[in-house]
Amino acid sequence: MRSVFQSRNPMMDPAQESQPGQRQDEVMIAYLPIVRGAAIAVLGYFLFDLISRFFFPGDAHHGEMLAAVAIGALATIGIIFALRHPRQVLHLEICASALCLTLFFNSNLQQTLYFEVENLNYAILMMPIFAAILPTRRTIAAGIILNFVSLIWQLQVNIPDQVFDYFWVGVSGVAAGVAISEIIRTAVLNSVKARLAAVRDREKAEALARETRHLAECDALTGLPNRRSFFLALNTHVEHLKQTGDAFFLGLVDMDSFKPVNDTYGHAAGDEMLRIVARRLEEAGGSTAFPARLGGDEFAILAPANPKTAQAILSLGHRIESRLSEPYDLGEYTCKGSGSVGLLICDDPDLSAHDLMERADHALYFAKRALQGRAVLFNAALEREMTTSSQVDKALRKADYDAEFKVVFQPQFDLTKSRITGFEALARWDSSDLGPVTPDVFIPAAERAGLIRPLTRTLLCKALDAMADWPDTINLSFNLSTHDLMSPNAIEGILATVRDSGIPAGRIEFEITETAMMSDFNQARRAIDQISRAGHSVALDDFGIGYSSLQYLQQLPVSKLKIDHSFVSSILEDSSSYKIVRTLLSLSQTLDLGCVIEGVETEAQLHILRTMGARHIQGYLIGQPMPADRIPPALDTTFDFSPRPMSRLKKLAQ
Ligand code: C2E
Ligand code: CA
Ligand code: CA
Repeated sequence: MRSVFQSRNPMMDPAQESQPGQRQDEVMIAYLPIVRGAAIAVLGYFLFDLISRFFFPGDAHHGEMLAAVAIGALATIGIIFALRHPRQVLHLEICASALCLTLFFNSNLQQTLYFEVENLNYAILMMPIFAAILPTRRTIAAGIILNFVSLIWQLQVNIPDQVFDYFWVGVSGVAAGVAISEIIRTAVLNSVKARLAAVRDREKAEALARETRHLAECDALTGLPNRRSFFLALNTHVEHLKQTGDAFFLGLVDMDSFKPVNDTYGHAAGDEMLRIVARRLEEAGGSTAFPARLGGDEFAILAPANPKTAQAILSLGHRIESRLSEPYDLGEYTCKGSGSVGLLICDDPDLSAHDLMERADHALYFAKRALQGRAVLFNAALEREMTTSSQVDKALRKADYDAEFKVVFQPQFDLTKSRITGFEALARWDSSDLGPVTPDVFIPAAERAGLIRPLTRTLLCKALDAMADWPDTINLSFNLSTHDLMSPNAIEGILATVRDSGIPAGRIEFEITETAMMSDFNQARRAIDQISRAGHSVALDDFGIGYSSLQYLQQLPVSKLKIDHSFVSSILEDSSSYKIVRTLLSLSQTLDLGCVIEGVETEAQLHILRTMGARHIQGYLIGQPMPADRIPPALDTTFDFSPRPMSRLKKLAQ
């Protein structure tokens, strides 16, 4: 592409030829003022001639000349009129030629009526005049030839003996005409050309600047304003709020199941889904809202707080929520989808754009965690939670991992062997600043802060150390975070730590959750392959509560499912929990996968699970998570879970 700064000046670059259309423009621009000016001058000449003839009539042919000059003046007025909106060069050529012809006829009529030698000068003078007025070479040539021929004809008719003398004067007139026409044409056309080139370059530069601005401000895929423009707009709103007190609404939107769509149907379908999301956000927000794409499947929206009520912002949130949960037509496929929305009423002038984003983001985080596909408005409870989580983040950053973190172990029981076969390692944090913090809080915090990998390493080392004292038949289950799976290097580090411990890989199982598959299926699969190749088994944790796609089970070398404790806790009261557990158990048997049922707290739960064919269980009934030194006595404990009367179990099973 030619740079706008490489402006082409035809004066400096005479070799540069204009395109035909361009050339026409140049001639029009250059000659229209010349022809118009000449027409006015000719009209002035005719009027002057008319007046002088009127007041000082000559002797001969007074009437004819008066009429001829009047006709010339009228014709010139007509030409001036025709020159108001000429569209083509041909139009201009006709007007200029007509103008020259009025002069030509006038002067020739006079010579014909009463020949005067001195008036021959007019015929010669008219050659350079025509050359200056006429816009094209062909009209100039015709004009000069006409004058020359008429000169010779007048000589031949009136003074044939002087034809030869005047012939050379005529030739000089022709030469002067040609020279003048060329000088004028070159000068005028080149300056017009230069002006046009400058205009064109400026237009190109402006178009380029517009395009660059568009690229810098808009997201190429969806056409929505991009992250940069969103933050500019947010800052402007914040400034405006500070100055005028005008509140506004802020919404952050994150698609709930975009990754699976991208992974399953391909990137083109994923792109189409994002484009649809963008259009729906525009529609849901209405003409006064400012939706933007922040990146990936994250969007944001700014809207006037009109009125500034929770109801108004929630109704915006619900509009977004319901539009985003409509089916998506992705060409070959139609799929379901939903978006979580975090909402904030921005009415506190003391908060910066960063503070506002943090609050809206926390509402979004809550929406994602608790109510996928729903809109959540930031409130006082979330504010308290956010403060706690920022305290956790701070404490986590300065924590001494080795001293503050420990691992406890929860037994896993085999009902057919009636013994403990392994332990799940569970992390505990006794923070020097905050006291005990539960893993449900600090694991996500470590993930957010990018500290999970060193934490995983510390916990794994501690678990492996404890394992050194265990009998060979007792295995370890260790939880990995989604973030651990996202990097091949992190996985390699984890595998190397196990290798260095000397404990056989077959005794260590890694538990992963579905979130890994949701965030990047291909990388999750590579990581699981990497772990399996090293000889470890992999269990899919919390199965049943998330996306629970059968596709994951088919495509991944997973060897076990862990059925989430939420189903077990209500298995006695809720027949649907009962049916879910039964279905998941038979699914694991069909797919030849192991299955651990978590959260077994009572014997009644255990017995009902046994009737369903459950083999491996975990829960407070067998043991609470315990420190390493309590493992030997736990292993020595004998469990007696004799079958209970079946009446209640049968009732539930119906
Ligand atoms: P999880 O992997 O599903 O772990 C089981 C959780 O259920 C544990 O909570 C355990 O104490 C609890 N639990 C066990 N038996 C029962 C029961 O009978 N009834 C009830 N109500 N709960 C029971 P905990 O230790 O608080 O861990 C919570 C979650 O934190 C874990 O869920 C796991 O996702 C995560 N987590 C814990 N330790 C680690 C770790 O070392 N690394 C990673 N990445 N995540 C961890
Ligand atoms: Ca687990
Ligand atoms: Ca679990």
